[in-house]
Amino acid sequence: MSDKTYGFETLSVHAGAAPDPATGARAQPIYQTTAYVFEDADHAAALFNLQTVGFIYSRLSNPTNAALEARLATLEGGRGCTVASSGHAAQVLALFPLMQPGAEIVASSRLYGGSLQQMKNTYPKFGWKAEIVDADTPDNFKRAVTENTRCFFIESLANPGGVVSDIEAIARIAEAAGVPLLVDNTLATPWLCKPIDYGATLIVHSTTKFLSGTGTSMGGAVVDSGKFDWSVKGSTGGGKFPSLAGPEPAYHGLNFHETFGDMAYTFHSHAVGLRDLGPTQAPFNAWLTMLGIETLGLRMERHCANAIRVARHLEKHPAVAWVNYAGLPSNRYHQLGKKYLPRGTGSVFTFGVKGGYDVGVKVVDGVELFSHLANIGDAKSLIIHPASTTHRQLSDEQRVAAGAGPDVLRLSIGIETVEDIIADLDQALARATA
Ligand SMILES: *Cc1c(COP(=O)(O)O)cnc(C)c1O
Repeated sequence: MSDKTYGFETLSVHAGAAPDPATGARAQPIYQTTAYVFEDADHAAALFNLQTVGFIYSRLSNPTNAALEARLATLEGGRGCTVASSGHAAQVLALFPLMQPGAEIVASSRLYGGSLQQMKNTYPKFGWKAEIVDADTPDNFKRAVTENTRCFFIESLANPGGVVSDIEAIARIAEAAGVPLLVDNTLATPWLCKPIDYGATLIVHSTTKFLSGTGTSMGGAVVDSGKFDWSVKGSTGGGKFPSLAGPEPAYHGLNFHETFGDMAYTFHSHAVGLRDLGPTQAPFNAWLTMLGIETLGLRMERHCANAIRVARHLEKHPAVAWVNYAGLPSNRYHQLGKKYLPRGTGSVFTFGVKGGYDVGVKVVDGVELFSHLANIGDAKSLIIHPASTTHRQLSDEQRVAAGAGPDVLRLSIGIETVEDIIADLDQALARATA
């Protein structure tokens, strides 16, 4: 199948998966195996030398995972992909070839809370430093660059406030600084936004969310555009990315950039990243995620159509103080949303209830169709009151700064009948304010 000629929905169903050559099975088989028999000693040696592409051990690669990787690389318009056991595992895997002790990340302050947590408290244990900047002013990235900067990290559409990043402007600054731009595309999915088209180098996903789509499977992915020159030098003349474009001691001195060209990053992620860090995705999760992606376009269309209807309804609701959704013309990210996510700005957004904390808690207790839980991107509608759950360890000031003040409720609008979604919110709001 020559991918170039097909539309997104066709590729969502077919890319990476042909009928099984051994059995004719039309559905993608689940290769639930740990290891793979070598043809002979020469074949085994060639596999270990990366002179031939094939399977050795499922911590490094697996045929079911490889099918998902091919599908995601195609849908994002990238060159290669590596799947991981979760979105957070994918982020560590994505940064690993770029970083070393003393290296710095410049990251948006609007990242998913769990990602900021990684940046602030866990990466420093590896000797990695994160400079957190307000991405609403792209020039903040330029100001934060130092000789040690090795990447920029943003989200295309940020959780939970519907913040849209100016990807093109930030990509230009990254290019001038000679560093790759990583974009977390979890909330948008490639159906709504393809950051590589705007200059992103690497895409990370929590496939746990909209890609798998039904709240069944943890997973993550890193997609490489294949466009970055890893042999770029720093201002003092040394190579900036020695793991990729120098002799890699973790792989008997192999130079991945010289050996694999635009597949260097993806080969390194499998041969060194997955091998040594080990955050491998289970083939069953990869299989469920591929099944989910088959309906990605249909689901995202409905997620977005439902979300804008709910947002408009809440904006007029007497018990609601404000609604923060980039799809609404009143929202400050509306214009950026039109540019980067013209089909819709996803289905995760926040709103504020009049009456603050007490009313917020009563709403989550009063919903019947919505599920009160800590997740997004399910076919089912989800709700959470961040101040009493995900953000409860923070001070009041920190909560407000993180967009999780006492009155805030976060919704992930599902694909149910929209009138039912609205009716459930109406009855919960009525009971909470009675
Ligand atoms: C959930 C999420 C993650 C983390 O993914 P997990 O699969 O939960 O590890 C990262 N980024 C964003 C935007 C997310 O929503």
